[in-house]
Amino acid sequence: MDYQYDNENIFSKILRREIPNETVLETKHSLSFKDINPVAPNHVLVIPKGPYVNFDHFISEASSDEILDFNSMINDVIKIIGAAPSTDGFGYRIISNAGDHGFQEVPHLHVHIISGRFLGPMVLPEK
Ligand code: AMP
Repeated sequence: MDYQYDNENIFSKILRREIPNETVLETKHSLSFKDINPVAPNHVLVIPKGPYVNFDHFISEASSDEILDFNSMINDVIKIIGAAPSTDGFGYRIISNAGDHGFQEVPHLHVHIISGRFLGPMVLPEK
């Protein structure tokens, strides 16, 4: 599988500080920031800093350190927004879109963490 990474995508520009973002957390390998168009009271995106197009690209080619760091940041964000059921949060949803059928708009891996309201069923049934 060969993915071509587009250096001009908007998250790449965020990583180069060419456009601003509302940072939640930053580490050596990962960045999380508020989604510019939130669909719930809490809507945070977590991205790796490396040039990965989507989840399967990342898992196939990233180092163990990058993968651990990315997953740890997702967990840290869930704690920061108070969404974990284990700490009396009301829950959350993690989504990562890929490709055409997944309706991925920005071709840099990102996980959406969404919480703060009842989210209903994950995907609406086909009509
Ligand atoms: P996806 O459809 O999964 O690729 O999601 C892309 C997400 O990026 C959408 O939820 C957008 O609202 C979000 N987004 C696009 N541009 C920005 C930006 N400059 N800062 C924060 N979020 C953004």
